[in-house]
Amino acid sequence: MPEFVAGLPKAELHLHIEGSLTPARAYAIAKRNGLDLDAFDPEKGAAARREFTSLVPFLIEYGKCSGVMRKEADFYDMMYDYLERAAENGVVHAEIFFDPQTHCYTDILEFKTVITGLTKALEEGRKTLGVDGKLILCFLRDRSVEEALQVLEDARPYMEVKSPVYTPDLLGVGMDNAELGFRPGRFKPAYDKARHAREAGLHCVAHAGEEGDASYITEALDDLKIERVDHGVRCLEDPAVVERLVKAQTPLTVCPCSNHRLQVYPRFFCGENAVRQLLSRGVKVTVNSDDPAYFFMGNVSAAGRACDASAYDGFLASNYVRTLALNSFDASFISEDDKKAHKAKVAEYCKGWRPACPPAA
Ligand SMILES: [Zn+2]
Repeated sequence: MPEFVAGLPKAELHLHIEGSLTPARAYAIAKRNGLDLDAFDPEKGAAARREFTSLVPFLIEYGKCSGVMRKEADFYDMMYDYLERAAENGVVHAEIFFDPQTHCYTDILEFKTVITGLTKALEEGRKTLGVDGKLILCFLRDRSVEEALQVLEDARPYMEVKSPVYTPDLLGVGMDNAELGFRPGRFKPAYDKARHAREAGLHCVAHAGEEGDASYITEALDDLKIERVDHGVRCLEDPAVVERLVKAQTPLTVCPCSNHRLQVYPRFFCGENAVRQLLSRGVKVTVNSDDPAYFFMGNVSAAGRACDASAYDGFLASNYVRTLALNSFDASFISEDDKKAHKAKVAEYCKGWRPACPPAA
């Protein structure tokens, strides 16, 4: 199964680039930037990452390591590291979250530094690794709507086709960070603005139904008009929400390893597995890695590892894994022609694995 999954072409649709920063890379960047190296000792960092079992300690460690970033090269290196691991795991297309508010708005960094480093690495990744990476700008939901609107304003030059810094790599907006108590509807003005922010509009996604219950999903669909739900596993607690997701074929970007480690949804790995339940009910599920460098995924990371871990735990047979790969392209924001081409490659790949790879579930 691991070999089958690693080679299976797939898209990764739920990956926070800050969550891909390994302890070794955080240390190297801290050194380059003249920071206190003791605080970023890679062995201590790896040990800390093995310890946390809930959201708050994770966010503290995440915030500390994200704080090493100072220069364009730091963002380039962090992104290129991820793209290399993605390529090793059969990821051919990735729609990658980044959090400008984690880095900017503190007088240390400008939006320009962040996006330029990231897009330069994406360009190199396309050329040398064959991974087509795109960006989804995320608002931090525990910060103000006014700041989210300011982020969009700062991103505007990168979205205007006639601007000298225009980049087609910025394809959408999302929303992340602690969910409970931070209702999605509050961000309606930012999403309304994003939807009209460039000629064809930005795609809209949001984290919902991870810590928050199913009503957060409904609110994100109604108020923010999102096209894809990040996490969304708690839809299982409300049959009407599941029915709505199935009817509209709204994709979920589920992250089983993350849910398991952070225990944001304790029942996830107990009894019936959520991914299998969602698949069997006809929900368009995809499986992703979320913050792979923090969840024991080490150097293998990426969607492949998440698929693999689920499979290892005995919850997913290879036919489900094949369906997840097909879903990952269906749920992506690539063109219909590109979806067809990638899905044909999945089918072709699976032919080579018969009889181990039954038809899609
Ligand atoms: Zn996430």
